[in-house]
Amino acid sequence: MKKIVILTGAGISAESGLKTFRDSGGLWEEHRIEDVATFDGWRRNPQMVLNFYNERRKQLLTAQPNAAHKALVRLEQKFDVQIITQNVDDLHERAGSSKVLHLHGELKKVRSTVDDNLVYELNGWELKMGDKCEKGSQLRPHIVWFGEPVPMISLAAKFAEQADIFIVIGTSLNVYPAAGLIEYVPDSASMFLIDPNAHGLPFVKRLEIINEKAGIGTPSLVDRLLQ
Ligand code: NAD
Repeated sequence: MKKIVILTGAGISAESGLKTFRDSGGLWEEHRIEDVATFDGWRRNPQMVLNFYNERRKQLLTAQPNAAHKALVRLEQKFDVQIITQNVDDLHERAGSSKVLHLHGELKKVRSTVDDNLVYELNGWELKMGDKCEKGSQLRPHIVWFGEPVPMISLAAKFAEQADIFIVIGTSLNVYPAAGLIEYVPDSASMFLIDPNAHGLPFVKRLEIINEKAGIGTPSLVDRLLQ
């Protein structure tokens, strides 16, 4: 069975109503990265950080997978499909994809501030000051903040190396090390990039750019690959 590896970013969830980070109207226009997505920001003002992710979580509870998330599930009829997502939402899982690796954490989970291995599912949307892990320390969002290590990156690189087909959807490829994953894809693999604003990728030979929104470009690419 051929292996398809798919790298997704905030753009795939945009049509589900979740804002991207860098587009106009995106999250970084309203919030400073240093305040809400770094450990220093958490140390300075944990309440502000909790509010930011509580708001994201509240939004996620009402969001639904869109045509792009759903189309990727169909690929499993014929291919071994591995999704690597930079997204912290759970829309791939809710659409029904069976293998999803989260590079940057998961919004619906929280973890201990003294032991990274203590990760919990959060009930509902709200994490509060005073909510503690079993070792008595404050819980934080289970998110990889800027400047923190990305524990899943070596596994993701292994998957990229095994790809017969590699598909990139809705990412500006600005955030490293995730963006560097394309360098692990073998030269023999075909690569597709679905993003209305994509221009090209340096050093990638067999690349097809599909300048469409994910909700349009993904189902039609999936149809082609299944034919
Ligand atoms: P980004 O905001 O840097 O880039 C988004 C990309 O999506 C852009 O290239 C844009 O052209 C494209 N895009 C916009 N609308 C689209 C659509 N309808 N269809 C296809 N593409 C579309 O996001 P990024 O590259 O994922 O990196 C930013 C970081 O933000 C990631 O680490 C991610 O964890 C985090 N993030 C996650 C979510 C989420 O979980 N849904 C939302 C916002 C940000």
